[in-house]
Amino acid sequence: MNITVQKYGGSSVENKEKLEIICNKIINEKNKENNLVIVVSAQGKTTNELISKAEEYTDNNLNLPKKDLDFLLSTGEMQTASLLSLMLNTKGHKCVCLTGAQAGIITNSEFGNAKIIDIVTSNILSFLEDDYIVIVTGFQGIDTLGNITTLGRGGSDLSAVALAAALNAQKCEIFSDIDGIYSADPKVIPNSKLLDEISFDEMLEASSAGAKVLHNRSVNLAKKYNIKISSKNTFTNSRGSIVQKNLKEDFDIHFITKKDDVSKICIVGPMMLSNKDAISKIFKVANEENIEIYMISFSELAINLIVDTKKSQYFMEKLHEILIDKQKDRN
Ligand code: ASP
Ligand code: MG
Repeated sequence: MNITVQKYGGSSVENKEKLEIICNKIINEKNKENNLVIVVSAQGKTTNELISKAEEYTDNNLNLPKKDLDFLLSTGEMQTASLLSLMLNTKGHKCVCLTGAQAGIITNSEFGNAKIIDIVTSNILSFLEDDYIVIVTGFQGIDTLGNITTLGRGGSDLSAVALAAALNAQKCEIFSDIDGIYSADPKVIPNSKLLDEISFDEMLEASSAGAKVLHNRSVNLAKKYNIKISSKNTFTNSRGSIVQKNLKEDFDIHFITKKDDVSKICIVGPMMLSNKDAISKIFKVANEENIEIYMISFSELAINLIVDTKKSQYFMEKLHEILIDKQKDRN
């Protein structure tokens, strides 16, 4: 079966006018006799707004129950999927919208950062066989107990690549509001150049270091299953960029990127380099609290960590508790 997976990001699905453009693109692609699976993000800033709402309703609880939060955040993508499906059906095109669960995206129970463990494609395939356009909510799955999970911020890219791999799709296109992959974020460096192609490895490095165009886990999965990703603009006819396996020897510099909104935490004590107990406690807290450490450095007297600014206060409290308060109790 000839399957195309297209993913439309938050800024592409922001309002009715933009969804109309996407409907036309989808209809065009469908007319080429392709079976279509469309993955959508939440509209515009919906996910951020839902997080702020959760914070507001809990008087800024810094440690929101992750399971409840996933339940709430999953509704953003459901709104987009249903609106797009309503529009396409109204225009006379057979279309169905599926949640992550209905699409068979099974994850572990790591709420807020769930990992895909399997994709059961039978439901999607039976709709495709009946000639439906299938719209799937990005960013979400279901655990083996039936709980809704989310895959981590920006996770709709991952949903798209995972579905492309599971469905053995011919094309995986990720649409956003920029023309493709640039040598730097074009919003930061206006002179940045659009790249025709880039290797999985370089893209992985860049997206892990802050390039927002593709989610790093989606690139990692694309590399594993050798899924060629086209990164394109929803609103222009630019040919975009392709992320793929690259065997060409080439010594050009391709990317410069930066990560915003990060903080450095510095933990000071004697002989830190050999303080295995402290090191393992730091990683244990980071793991339990789902805090990503972007960079770590060690010296004789300090361990420096770079983490998200938003999580830094909470992380510091936890580190203080486990490294200093508990140590005092012992003395
Ligand atoms: N809506 C989710 C987010 O804003 C997922 C995504 O857009 O990829 O993080
Ligand atoms: Mg994104």
